[in-house]
This record gives sequence, C-alpha cells and structure tokens, in this order.
Amino acid sequence: MLKSILFLFLFVFGLNLSAQDKKEETAFFIKSIFENTMESGECYSWLQELCTQAGPRLSGSVSYDQAANLMAEKLKQIGCDTVWLQPTYVKKWTRGEKEEAKIIFGDKEKSSVPLRTLALGNSPGTPITGLRAQVIEVKSLDELDSIGNQVKGKIVFFNRPMPAGTLKSFRAYGATVDQRSRGAGVASKYGAIAVVVRSMTQNIDDVPHTGVTVFYPERGEKLIPAFAISTKGANLLSLLLKKESLRLFLKSNCQLDQDSTLAYNVIGEVRGIGKSNKIIAVGGHLDSWDVAQGAHDDGAGCVQSMQVLSTLKMLGYPPRNTIRCVLFSNEENGLAGAKAYKKWSDENGEQHIAAIEADAGGFTPRGFTCEGDTSIFRKYFKLVQAKMDYLEPYDLYLKPGGSGADIGILKSQKGILMGLSVDSQRYFDYHHTERDRFEAVHHRELRYGAAALTSMVYLLDGINWESP
Ligand SMILES: [Zn+2]
Repeated sequence: MLKSILFLFLFVFGLNLSAQDKKEETAFFIKSIFENTMESGECYSWLQELCTQAGPRLSGSVSYDQAANLMAEKLKQIGCDTVWLQPTYVKKWTRGEKEEAKIIFGDKEKSSVPLRTLALGNSPGTPITGLRAQVIEVKSLDELDSIGNQVKGKIVFFNRPMPAGTLKSFRAYGATVDQRSRGAGVASKYGAIAVVVRSMTQNIDDVPHTGVTVFYPERGEKLIPAFAISTKGANLLSLLLKKESLRLFLKSNCQLDQDSTLAYNVIGEVRGIGKSNKIIAVGGHLDSWDVAQGAHDDGAGCVQSMQVLSTLKMLGYPPRNTIRCVLFSNEENGLAGAKAYKKWSDENGEQHIAAIEADAGGFTPRGFTCEGDTSIFRKYFKLVQAKMDYLEPYDLYLKPGGSGADIGILKSQKGILMGLSVDSQRYFDYHHTERDRFEAVHHRELRYGAAALTSMVYLLDGINWESP
C-alpha cells in the first residue's frame, strides 16, 4: 500500500518517472485493483440488495424506481462527485395474470397437454377467454414467407433451435433470435392470429424464456399475441405435429401502455483533472424482465460498473478524464434510456473517448471486445492493444467485436466502444427466465469481472488519445 501511495504522489505531482518506473507503477496499481476487488469488493452485496429489495424491474414499474433510488444511494456512498437520475420516457408493458398454453387433441377438445409459457414483451393479450387455432410449424422467417398463404387465421410456431455447433453462445443467440424479435410482426402480415416461439436456449428443459418482440405497424404489421414455450415443450409440439394436425389454446393478459412513463437512468461520476467534456463511461442496464431478479441480466453489469468508481476512489486514484458509471433504463424493451443519454451527452458537447458495457452475465471475464467509427478505430484499437500486456497475467485479452446495446449509439462521438466479454456458456440457462436469481451469480466471478473493468478503465484513462 505504501508503494502505491508513493506512486500516486509521483503521478499527481508530475515528477518524472522513467519508462520502467512508469510500467512498474501501472502494473502495481492493477495488482492493487485486483487484490482489493477480490478481497473486499462491495459489488456482490450490492447485487444481493438489488435482487432481493427491488427484485424484478421492468422499466416503468414501481420496483424499477426502487432499484434506481437504491443504486443512486450506493453511488453517493461511494463518494462520487455527482450522482443524478436522468429522466427517460418508456412505454410501460405489463404481463398481467399468468399466461396459459395447451395442446388440444381432437375437434371436441377431448384431451389436452399444458405447455409452460411466457408472453413475449410488448405483445398484446389474447381475448379474455383465450384463443384456439390450428398451429403450423416453421423453422425460419424465410420459411414463413414461402408458405405465407397457408397461415391465415392460424398460430405460427417458430422452432429453429440455437445451433449447438456454434461455440460462442451469443453468436448462436444472434443466429436464432429473429424468430422471437420479428416472428410475430411478420406472421401478422400473413394473417396469423398468434405465434409461439421456441425459447432461446441450448438447454433442453421446461423453462420458458421471455424477451422482446417488435412490431412495425407502419409496415402493415398488426400487434398479435406472442408466446415463448420451453425447449421441451417445443420438441413435444413438433413431434406431435409430425403425426397429426393440432390446435393450441393460448391465453395472455398483457397490456402495453402507449403513454410514456418515467424510468430514470442512474448516473454517478468522478470528475477528471483534465478537460471536463472527455468521458470514460462504464455501465450496464438496470431494468430486467418481470419474471426474473435480473441478477446476470444485468444486475451484475450494473454493480460491477459501480465497483469501478468505488475501487478507484478507495485507492485514491485521480482520473485525468471524467469517469462515469451509467445504469441505463429500458434496454430490454425499447432502449429509451440509451437514446436519452446519448441525446443529453451530445447536447452537452461531450466526447466519450471510451465507453464499456457489461451485459453478458456475471461470469468469469475473458477480456474485452471493441468497436468504433471507422475513422478512429484502427488507431484507437492499437493504443488499447499496446496496454494489454498489463492484463495478460489476469487472462484478459482484447478483440474486435460488438460492444453493447446501450452504448452502440455513442459511436458518432468517435471514441472506442467496448464490451466486457465473459465465459458465456451458461448464460442462456438463465437469460430472461425465473432462474436469473442472485444465487445464480458466483461472488468470485462477479468480482473478477469488476476488477477487469476497473483495470481497463484505469488503463484507458492513462492513454494519450491524441498521439499519432
Ligand atoms: Zn441484458
């Protein structure tokens, strides 16, 4: 500790360190970040409070407000220079009473098999008595296009599994999620009255995964009820459909309130000693689906981002740039928080020289992906890559790749955008389900990710971004 205080003294008062001393100072400071975070990082207890006191927190809900106030209070306790709630306006969606789905056998409904189901976010409810219709299975939006004239008055069942052969689970998700996000909108144009979608997971279990579905009324799409069923349920339905034509019964009670409701972004910052409009942001999204505590998605990313400020403050680090923690609202069903933040930042003449999003679950970190506007990306990537030797002892690496849903739109500010990448093999066991609870997050993995984020923010702050 004494050594680090000495280094900080030298840093603050600008005494000339040799290149070797400077390297040692940096390596020593990163070691201190890891030791402090792993031994006593508060992020794990913050996550417990978020998950158990606020709980499931879709934006616009009372529990979202509780979560925002709780996290703002923690940011104040950390000793941020400024903490504020930034208003954003969201369309509030509510699930209502528990949904129902069942496979019906025979015209007279002589028997049926229930399916575990969740309505998809932003979808409308069925009539109060539910609906019954013949079901027709497809594997893709393309296949739906090819049989479009056969689905009028029916329920379309999207059943393409996440590809097991794709090692990266987010890539597998990306290759499949169009069925959930766009299936209902596209099916409505062909006259379908509802859709059911195979859950987005590679697990074969009986746990349905919710998630958003998007409609474009301006393209002639109607809002029709949309449901996820578990992978076991999807396999059963598909097997039965090979033998006979079947009907489904579906009932949901969702509502989308078109009027805007307030849901605040939560922001805390420690101001830099350099130009005040240069920002390094780190964040996650505070909202979660209503069926989950949102521990991995994305309570973990939120508390890890708060840990960055806490650890840097605790170690007495004086940042050159303003270091800001942003907890976004409404990532799950609208991105209103991200849009409001970007607009406000632009209006204030800021430049995010770097932004990092942590939204891949609280698992063991692997490193960082990064992207940026083509005019700066190669140069900035090299500047960051030159620092990665410091993180190699911690098994953290840098790769080009996507950053995060909330920070992607900051690209126009010409900074580097990064995502904390983690071992995500088990992420889709939990994603958007009742299983995404505090107990599903391991304290060491969570703290390891927080230390990785803190170290990266510290390294980014030490880069001379103007250098050729
Ligand atoms: Zn998320």
